[in-house]
Amino acid sequence: MNDTRQPISPDTARKHSRLRGAAKSHSVCPYCAVGCSQNVYTKGGEVIDIEGDPESPINEGTLCPKGANTFQLVSNPHRITKVMYRAPYSDRWEERPLDWAMDRIARLVKETRDRDFVERSAEGIEVSHVKTIAHLGGATLDNEENYLIKKLFSGGLGFLAIENQARI
Ligand code: SF4
Repeated sequence: MNDTRQPISPDTARKHSRLRGAAKSHSVCPYCAVGCSQNVYTKGGEVIDIEGDPESPINEGTLCPKGANTFQLVSNPHRITKVMYRAPYSDRWEERPLDWAMDRIARLVKETRDRDFVERSAEGIEVSHVKTIAHLGGATLDNEENYLIKKLFSGGLGFLAIENQARI
């Protein structure tokens, strides 16, 4: 590339794409059911960029503004990495340990399900459901997580209301 016959300064000759030398993996945008294809670029085990895949017949290299920011899911200094809890009627968030949050969620789910689980309807039809607990998933949940959520909450615990924020 360093053609000495061209009027190119050493500084210009040194410039190159930030993706040079990066490994490319294919992925799918996690946000919505359009399923745009993405190229994930990694260097030294770190994700350095995520872009639209030009070879995809779905999005032909493009991503909407949401999908174009997928890199920020991986690398974002503003991402909250601790459990934040807001007590009922409180106007502030408090930091709590993960174990505390897991225990609280498990206890409340068990108490509510024990209280409200319906095995048979008034007509005697087996329904095996609980209507007082709902689950709302996030757009960035992957296929495996969604599979487990559906399997546990719907088939296992009998929740009827299982939704995902990606479709709201
Ligand atoms: S890039 Fe936009 S349109 Fe494509 S899957 Fe992601 S959210 Fe949906």
